[in-house]
Amino acid sequence: MSNTEQPQTNGHPQANMEKLKRNMDAIGKKILVLSGKGGVGKSTVAVNIAAELARKGFQVGLLDVDLHGPSIPRMVGQVGQKCFGTEDEILPLKINDNLKVMSVAFLIGDDTQATIWRGPMKYAVIQKMLADTAWGELDYLVIDAPPGTGDEPLSIAQLTGVNAGAVLVTTPQQVAVEDVHRCVTFCQQVMLPVWGIVENMSSLYCPQCDKEIKIFGSHAGGQKLAEATGLDLLGQLPIDPEIADGADAGQTIAECSVSAHTHQHMDRIISNLMPKIQTQTKPKGSTMKIAIPTADGQLCMHFGHCEQFAFVTVDEENKTVTNVEMLTPPPHEPGVLPKWVADNGGNMVIAGGMGQRAQQLFNQNQVGVVVGAAPDSPENLAIAYMNDALQTGQNACDH
Ligand code: ADP
Repeated sequence: MSNTEQPQTNGHPQANMEKLKRNMDAIGKKILVLSGKGGVGKSTVAVNIAAELARKGFQVGLLDVDLHGPSIPRMVGQVGQKCFGTEDEILPLKINDNLKVMSVAFLIGDDTQATIWRGPMKYAVIQKMLADTAWGELDYLVIDAPPGTGDEPLSIAQLTGVNAGAVLVTTPQQVAVEDVHRCVTFCQQVMLPVWGIVENMSSLYCPQCDKEIKIFGSHAGGQKLAEATGLDLLGQLPIDPEIADGADAGQTIAECSVSAHTHQHMDRIISNLMPKIQTQTKPKGSTMKIAIPTADGQLCMHFGHCEQFAFVTVDEENKTVTNVEMLTPPPHEPGVLPKWVADNGGNMVIAGGMGQRAQQLFNQNQVGVVVGAAPDSPENLAIAYMNDALQTGQNACDH
């Protein structure tokens, strides 16, 4: 295709907005990966978040709408691929049973072409991809957005609708941090919750002595930004040449031979992100029941072996606890507790620790899960949760 022509979107550049809303509403959560500028590792973070969620057994879509530098096809080993579809749907490419990918590059079919699309055409392409990609059932859609805070990320943030949030990627230096600070303001303006910050290229582990070297001095930009904005630092990724080599060869961090440090950092990012993206979004003013496993009146760290569950009914609008009911759970067997909590009206579980499989089963029963909470009374935990002040640490079951 010539670089100024319309993209081949089956002759329908203008997507149907109702269809777009239906397509977006059918997705559990949309995770927009944003950065203040290019080259900081936004696509790397997007691919690896998507791949890790898929490895956990979730159904995941990865949408590359970085119109000027779509790098996802290379990172998932699909360079030069074209996608197919019908008049009004585009079929994403299947990477494995749990992960599908759609990239603007698959519409063009030639990665070497520069795309010079004017504003309205860019908007139409973004709309089309959001409206017409036939994902099937998805727990998560990870979106690799164009860098910066211009019209394109704005369109994406506006079109993804509810149940969406952002992960911001920065490098440690002050200049990069200033750019991503603008992203924070941008998200506030479009009322997109920010689920946290990832600081990429934070340091380098010496291949000889394993000592951690802070290449950019003591900037710790991601940490400072998190402190200045009150946002969470989800984690840091070191510079690891294997990340770049792996990406060029279509391999994710889990698949290539990065250092053990890199694996640990990536795991930390995902375990800090999980509680944010599992939270069920409830309409304002509604009541909700939070189930908390207890022993001696306090949160019990191992939810499968607790004496009783406190079902705390809360009024989210007034941030008050309206009722606490203590119920004895059935004997612990895989799959029993998620159904029992759901049958008793629980929308959310706050736990100290919980294995991945159990978290998935709760999610399948439409119950959100927050892990890593510390022992406290059920009322205090519920109030902290409503005020976004619940402190969470390590999942006590992440052995
Ligand atoms: P962006 O999407 O912000 O433009 P990319 O994710 O495409 O950035 O990353 C730019 C380049 O840097 C890619 O070649 C990628 O493989 C490499 N890269 C990103 N993060 C790291 C890292 N932590 N260590 C080594 N290379 C990295």
